[in-house]
Amino acid sequence: MKPAAFEYSRPDTLEAAIALLAQGGPDAKVLAGGQSLVPMMNLRLAQPRLIVDVNRIPGHDYIRRDRDELVIGFLARHEDVKRSEVVGEACPLIAAAYEHVAHGTIRNRGTLCGNLCHADPASEMPAVMLATEATMELQGPAGLRHVPAAQFFLGLYETALASDEMLVRLRIPVAPKGQGWGFHEVSTRKGDFAFVCVGALLTLKAGRISTAKVAAAGIGTRAVRLDAVERWLIGQEANQQTFQRAGREASSSVVPSGDSMVPAEYRSELLEILTRRALADAASRSN
Ligand SMILES: Cc1cc2nc3c(=O)[nH]c(=O)nc-3n(C[C@H](O)[C@H](O)[C@H](O)COP(=O)(O)OP(=O)(O)OC[C@H]3O[C@@H](n4cnc5c(N)ncnc54)[C@H](O)[C@@H]3O)c2cc1C
Repeated sequence: MKPAAFEYSRPDTLEAAIALLAQGGPDAKVLAGGQSLVPMMNLRLAQPRLIVDVNRIPGHDYIRRDRDELVIGFLARHEDVKRSEVVGEACPLIAAAYEHVAHGTIRNRGTLCGNLCHADPASEMPAVMLATEATMELQGPAGLRHVPAAQFFLGLYETALASDEMLVRLRIPVAPKGQGWGFHEVSTRKGDFAFVCVGALLTLKAGRISTAKVAAAGIGTRAVRLDAVERWLIGQEANQQTFQRAGREASSSVVPSGDSMVPAEYRSELLEILTRRALADAASRSN
């Protein structure tokens, strides 16, 4: 199938891109890597009248550490983020999750920011942004606003972005010393979207859990933080019994949605098992 007719523009500056989005209103769409938007257009699930191709705007593909934050620009491609040593050191959960995201050809073109704006419910990175407590910087005609990940993902393919705003930058807190990480997923094949995935960050003190951040995707309309599990984990001994109990808490605290391919009961079971595994990995990497 071919996309519906659309106008195409390729601005050279961020300001020009935002002005075009403001003119186009809800019928205008940013084109970043095109790895989600173009398939949606081909299937006519998206029919934007105006495409604003931001790929030629210079200077926004950076991945850098800025004191205690990892800062990633909107044109940083998945593959560059995945391979980045800065990311591996500052936020190893991102690197771990990238082992499950798409395939090389798609990662070469797709962007991390585009992925987050698309907000697919079975996408790995929204869960990672929730667990790491990242902040999204959104720029529109009225200026810049900072939106915590917890307020960015609103629902099925829905985010806090206004139609005249762009996600221009991510700010991800650098992992504190000693924090361990774990990420587990089940999907049809390696590189496919998750049936369920879970990311966990733990710090330990004298063998007990002192901080816990756990987030999951694939279980509903958007990625979620497993707050009840996190609260229960604090002060518990970091052992298999605790992780098993936390897995059970996870599956009883969320009622996953089901579909013809993945029944809700199976998702619930996966949530339990993957939470347990992600926590066990995170504990084994804490020091
Ligand atoms: C075969 C295949 C397998 C895949 N597997 C996975 C997978 O396992 N896990 C996964 O997470 N993803 C997967 N993807 C999707 C991939 O990660 C996409 O790259 C990503 O979802 C979208 O990023 P993009 O840069 O290509 O954005 P685009 O497709 O260009 O845009 C996506 C949406 O975001 C908007 N947008 C893009 N950038 C911005 C911005 N900076 N500000 C405001 N709006 C913006 C666009 O207007 C559009 O609505 C897969 C894709 C394919 C084709």
